[in-house]
This record gives sequence, C-alpha cells and structure tokens, in this order.
Amino acid sequence: MRHERAHEKLCTIEDSSKISSLSANATVSCSRCGVKAHDPADVCDPVQLPESSSFGD
Ligand SMILES: [Zn+2]
Repeated sequence: MRHERAHEKLCTIEDSSKISSLSANATVSCSRCGVKAHDPADVCDPVQLPESSSFGD
C-alpha cells in the first residue's frame, strides 16, 4: 500500500466503505460537506454532533 496517506479527510474520500468505517460512532459532522466522522480531524469543518450515547431511553 504505497499510496496510503497519513490522514485523509472524509470530505475527499470517495470509497463508501471507507467512509462508513470512518464515520462509525460519529461525533462530528462537516458543516460544508455534511459527512459525519468519529474524528474531527477527518472533516474540513467539524461541528460537534449532539450526544447520542444515551440513545433509545
Ligand atoms: Zn468537509
């Protein structure tokens, strides 16, 4: 894997399977692109998502 990058942003990734793995347990979304990510560093303009750990009641 020579083309592995240190840190791709989800905003620029087109591989949907990779996006879904990186967006699992998302904590932020990108206000520009709308993608969700677990790591704020994965999007270009991260916005904190509402806490959903207590989902379901
Ligand atoms: Zn973005």
